Amino acid sequence: MLTRWWQSRTLARERRRYCRSDWRAARAALPLLAGLSDEQDGRLADLALRFLRDKRLEAVQGLQLTAQMRLIIGLQAALPVLELGLDWYRGWYALILYPAEFVPAREYVDADGLVWVDDAVKSGEAWEQGPVILSWADVAAGRTLDGYNVVLHELAHKLDMRDGAANGRPPLHAGMSGQSWTQAFTAAYADLNRRAAAGNATLIDPYGAESPAEFFAVVSEAFFEVPGLLNAEYPAVYSQLRAFYRQDPLARLGAGARPGNR
Ligand SMILES: [Zn+2]
Repeated sequence: MLTRWWQSRTLARERRRYCRSDWRAARAALPLLAGLSDEQDGRLADLALRFLRDKRLEAVQGLQLTAQMRLIIGLQAALPVLELGLDWYRGWYALILYPAEFVPAREYVDADGLVWVDDAVKSGEAWEQGPVILSWADVAAGRTLDGYNVVLHELAHKLDMRDGAANGRPPLHAGMSGQSWTQAFTAAYADLNRRAAAGNATLIDPYGAESPAEFFAVVSEAFFEVPGLLNAEYPAVYSQLRAFYRQDPLARLGAGARPGNR
């Protein structure tokens, strides 16, 4: 009882942070929310508030986090779990925001005991049982429907990690076939790898050819932003993601959404 009382009180406090113009501006910045029914839109807003209450948003390197920026992140974070529930994001607590791309410069030890420094420039990261890290410049650039969305990308990794290390396959719902999932994803991943290796232009971000985990994150971005394109390229993958996310962005957004300039 006490927990429920506390939760509703902290939720009310979170709600008071935002005025109507913050909500309006955040929604206007997110065309990927187009086509949601009033009922879905209401649930999305509620989930976004709960997400923002439960996770600690931490801006670093002088970045100033506004109410509107919080909503832009919260609403996008809520979208993938709109029909799954916030429980899918449990087990981690912090979302760290850099002003722009960042270099983690982290040391790690490989299987042979050699120490390496990871100094690649990143727009986002999702740690297993740890924080999600995002570059605000990339979040801001991801507002157009071009299939690139760093919030959806990193949170797709988090969904994938629900059952351990990211391997490109989140825990599937009852009634979904693991075999159908594997067939759809293996064939599409092989195709993207072949085309990327041949240097051919691909409509799906070739970064997805890095690993099955990256492939799942990249096709999740495409699913919500350019569903028509994903469905045309890899219809079996689209249909598996529709079953997993329990949403049909193609019906909602139409086939009109096409990638813009990268
Ligand atoms: Zn990734």
